[in-house]
This record gives sequence, C-alpha cells and structure tokens, in this order.
Amino acid sequence: MSEKIRQEENLIIIGGGPGGLSASIYAARNGVAPLVLNGPEPGGQITTTSELENYPGFPEPIGGFELSQKMTEQAENFGVRLEYESAEEVDFSGDKFIVKTEMGEYIADSIIIATGAEPRTLGLAKEDSLRGNGVSYCATCDAAFFKNKEVAIVGGGDTALWEATFLSKFASKVYILHRRDKFRGAKILGDRVKAKENIEILWDTEVKNLQGDNKLEGIQIFNNKNGEEKLLQVDGMFVAIGHKPRTECLMGQIELDDYGYIVTDNKQHTNISGVFACGDVQDPDYRQVVVAAGSGAKAAIEASEYIEEKEDSFPAKEVKIKDFTGEKNEDSSEAGAEEGELSLSLNLD
Ligand code: NAP
Repeated sequence: MSEKIRQEENLIIIGGGPGGLSASIYAARNGVAPLVLNGPEPGGQITTTSELENYPGFPEPIGGFELSQKMTEQAENFGVRLEYESAEEVDFSGDKFIVKTEMGEYIADSIIIATGAEPRTLGLAKEDSLRGNGVSYCATCDAAFFKNKEVAIVGGGDTALWEATFLSKFASKVYILHRRDKFRGAKILGDRVKAKENIEILWDTEVKNLQGDNKLEGIQIFNNKNGEEKLLQVDGMFVAIGHKPRTECLMGQIELDDYGYIVTDNKQHTNISGVFACGDVQDPDYRQVVVAAGSGAKAAIEASEYIEEKEDSFPAKEVKIKDFTGEKNEDSSEAGAEEGELSLSLNLD
C-alpha cells in the first residue's frame, strides 16, 4: 500500500446497507464517530426490493429504497459521516487497520465489515428488468405478493427447499425447477417439499427464457436430458441458486467459511481482534433486513467497547448531532461545533 495521506478514524464501517447503517447508529450513540464507506450505490440489497412487509414498526408495507433512505437519515442525524467510496483494499496486519479506496487511504482502530451478499442470477435476458416485477431472489420478502398465484423456484439447495415450503403457504402452486435429479439440500427439507400437495418438482429442468415485458407472464423451461420444452404460466419466479458474499476487498485476510461467508462468533467478532462483521456477508442462513440490523447493533456495541479499551485509540471526530429537544444543538466533541455547522477535525499525517 502506498504512503498517501491517511485519514484517522476510530471506526470505519465498510458497507451502507441495513447492517452497516444500524451499526453506525449504535456506534454514534456510543460516542464513537464512525465513517461509513457505502460505495457508489448505497443502501444495500433492500434498495432493489420493491416492498417490505416484515420489518417491524411499519404496519403498512414500506419500499426498500424508502427504508434505506430513512436509515441513512437516522444515521446522519447522529452525525454519522457517509462517503460514497468503496473499499478496494484493506490491510489488517497491524495494530491499526488500513482501508484504501479509489479516493485515498484511511487508518482506523476498528473496522466493521457490512458489505452484504448478492444473489446469484441465472443470467437470462429480461431477468434484471423483471426483477421486482415477478422475478425475486427472496421468498421470505416477497412470497406474500403471490397469494393464490402460481410460482416457480429455481434451485435444489437448502434455500430453494426451505423457500419452496414457505411459498407453498401463499401460492396456489409451486414448481421447483432443479437442474439435476437429486437435491443438494438436506434430506429433511427434501422430504418436506415432496410431501406438499401444491409443490411439483421438475427434475433435470432449466429455464430457457422469461416472458412478459412489464411483469413476468411465464417461463420457458427445458429438460436438459431429453430436450423437451414447455411454457410454465407462472406469475413469479424465485431464484435460489446461492449467494455471493462480497469479500473481494478483504483479499484473503479474514477467515471465511466454505461458501465464502465471513466467520463470526455470536458477538460478531471475526478472527482478527478489532475487526467485526455484520449483515449478509456473515449470514448464510437468514439474509433478512431485521437480522442484518440486529447483527449491526451487536457489532457496533462490541466495536465501541474495543475502541474504548484500546489505549492508543484515535479521538472521536467532532460531529454535529441533530437536536430533537428544541434546545441548542448537542455536540459529541470536546471542542463543539458552531450551530448549523458540521465540524470535522481531521487528523492528517
Ligand atoms: P447452495 O447450497 O449452493 O445450492 C445452490 C443450488 O442452486 C444447488 O442446488 C445448485 O444446483 C443450484 N444452482 C447453482 N447454480 C445454478 C444455475 N446457474 N442454474 C440452476 N441451478 C443452479 O446454496 P443455498 O441453498 O443458498 O445454501 C447456501 C448455504 O446456506 C448452505 O450452507 C446451506 O446449508 C445454508 N442454508 C441453510 C438453511 C437452513 O435451513 N439451515 C437454509 C438456507 C441455506 P446443483 O445442486 O446442481 O449444484
């Protein structure tokens, strides 16, 4: 890593989805002044979810983008600084951690990794344009929109089997399209789908193309053993062929499991002291907004304690906190910012 000017931070959160933003709110309220590197397209995966019905506190469905904006605003109210930069490289080898972005370098006492995971796609034409309009990557999020409708789910792993069972409670019919003649997922989950009357398994089956322009109207499938083609007139297609945790920037410096997820203990600690992870990048099982937010809170509490106990921690930056009391603005710094100003004192080498 080159010797550029390094901006000193007590906590850097890499990723600005629900996990990272929740972590930033908790950290800020603990007196830490986190910097969130939220990439050029902030908000995380929920920004591509049309509506969420299962995030507590919202009796009416809330748009994914809107929820992400509210979380961002809430973080900013606590003085959280967000930079539209992506971490390109990290160096976790020293006592302080270095994060390099396309704009410069940061040095921090503690890091929370909240880079998320992206669903693997089938790579079909129209798959992207129909996403949110019949094509989904999360049954827990979207099953309720397919009440009494026919849907298909692609995949044969634990996720596809679990999600097919979940979908069968809403949809009138669920087709499982699996490219082989044997499930990869657990036997118990396989037995469960086989026992469901409204689930039909189509073995050796792949999707050839999607039909519909503004919304999904059907999918053309084919049997990869005998070449037979068929049109399934379904309203929904759920893709459950695995996720790819975003860990490229870590460059092998942190322990990952066999699927590429960061290994954490139940307090969000990674194998490197001072480096924590939260959200989907360390969660192969649930991948829910509420779970990501919960793990973000845990990571921030742990990181705050770590920073407090570290003898040579960088001082918290001066940040301005929104005043909800109607009194003069509170300031988290010793020096105090002028009213109406965001006062940041950067320690540059
Ligand atoms: P997975 O185990 O990797 O399974 C992916 C499935 O998608 C496989 O059946 C695979 O087919 C299929 N697939 C992959 N690429 C495809 C493509 N291009 N076209 C069609 N099909 C394709 O992924 P997962 O099911 O998401 O599970 C990931 C991890 O999370 C696992 O460790 C799993 O145990 C865990 N998990 C656990 C639970 C639980 O209840 N405890 C629930 C969900 C997930 P092949 O079989 O032919 O390779």
